[in-house]
Amino acid sequence: MRLTAFTDVSLRLVMRLAVAGEDELLTTRAVAEMTSVPYTHMAKAVARLSELGVVEARRGRGGGLRLTGPGRRAPVGALVRELEGADDLAGCEDDPPCPLRAACRLRGALHRAREAFYASLDEVTVESLVSSPAREALVLLRPRAPERDGPQM
Ligand code: SF4
Repeated sequence: MRLTAFTDVSLRLVMRLAVAGEDELLTTRAVAEMTSVPYTHMAKAVARLSELGVVEARRGRGGGLRLTGPGRRAPVGALVRELEGADDLAGCEDDPPCPLRAACRLRGALHRAREAFYASLDEVTVESLVSSPAREALVLLRPRAPERDGPQM
């Protein structure tokens, strides 16, 4: 089983925000650059995590992205469950649907396996993900410096 790129990007964002300093201004673009993710992917992660009440985007002076209190305490399994969605692990309901789906025992087994995976991740909180040595590595992430001779955009 592999996490979607969207879930991974979202978790990178959450972890970087979890170690942000009080006065640190973190924009979507800055976090995208810090975590080596395309801006558009990070913008989608910010939007979804805002909907979930995990991230808060403040506008204006002193604005930027912040992790909310519930976001900091969130179990990682609950977050991943929301971000991954409820699609089958295999293509049971694809077009065309699998002819075995009415009686398939594998489908149920895969569902239970996924629930066990989430339950295991529920033992980990966002806050605990950023304890040492992850914290030190996250704090050192910086946005890319602008290219001196490159095209200006
Ligand atoms: S064999 Fe079972 S698990 Fe696989 S696609 Fe068909 S219904 Fe789904």
